[in-house]
Amino acid sequence: MADGPTLNPAQLRTLDLLRRSADPLVFDPELVVELRETMLEALAHFADRLDGDTLFVTKHTLASVHGCEANFMVPDDFAWSPAAARGQVAHKAIQLMLNWRGEPTPRALVDDALARLADGDDHFGRWIAGLSPGDEAELRGFAVERVTNFSEAFPPLDWRSNPKTEAAAQFPVDGPILLRARVDLTLGKIEGQESRRVIVDLKTGRVTPRHREDLRFYALVESLVWHVPPRKLATFYLDSAEPMVEEVTEGVLRAAVQRTLDGIHRIVQLRREGHQPGRRAGPTCRWCQLASDCAEGRQYLDGGDVDEVE
Ligand code: SF4
Repeated sequence: MADGPTLNPAQLRTLDLLRRSADPLVFDPELVVELRETMLEALAHFADRLDGDTLFVTKHTLASVHGCEANFMVPDDFAWSPAAARGQVAHKAIQLMLNWRGEPTPRALVDDALARLADGDDHFGRWIAGLSPGDEAELRGFAVERVTNFSEAFPPLDWRSNPKTEAAAQFPVDGPILLRARVDLTLGKIEGQESRRVIVDLKTGRVTPRHREDLRFYALVESLVWHVPPRKLATFYLDSAEPMVEEVTEGVLRAAVQRTLDGIHRIVQLRREGHQPGRRAGPTCRWCQLASDCAEGRQYLDGGDVDEVE
């Protein structure tokens, strides 16, 4: 983060949580070699079982199959709403803010983000372009609040730390099964074998264990691609303007390998080998197409414990 401006207490807290310790963090290079070999061997095995099919594995894929398999197998017909779209718009505006010259206001950033998203040739872009004035105003208000929270709780970036937004990473370079990550914000540059990078994921809504698993998957892909693991993972909650941080350890990386391979194994079983999907009630029930006929989902929803879209 940059020297110079006086930081407020929230920015100091974020800076303190993300700061590098005095002792350099260096993982055994053999660990990454082993993780890469394990993944490549397992992916080759799963590719045989896919029988010519292809699979992109993302944090959403894994969270979905590890959440409720019945929901995972239903074709996605998600319907956007201002509340559901606030995170997407805020993320785009923050991405612009981090690369903008000068000091734009959150309102100007959100307006620019909305205009760019509305130009997109995808379902979300068409939905943004067709918003009624009332829905657009509601969405703008949601997003401006979160961009303001980020700007007031995240320290100004030091460009010497090579900050990257929406950085894509993929492992392996080619093949029928690809692990893909797109990280909201990466800070720090790789120096030899020393782990210096911090991976930051921006979230709206409440804290869930899924968010930690998302970041562990990112840490795994980063390690496989760059041969050097990141040092720290941070979920930055835009609603509360506070990061939750996890140090990267060998155990974190091994847990991510296991969860990733378990997820791919289950996807192959469900999609190619005729296994019956299980049902697991949780926040997903709130927008699941199967909820009206699902006893587990109804019971969960009647209990009133629901979450919000990220
Ligand atoms: S309602 Fe909940 S438990 Fe039932 S299928 Fe959907 S996500 Fe699964």
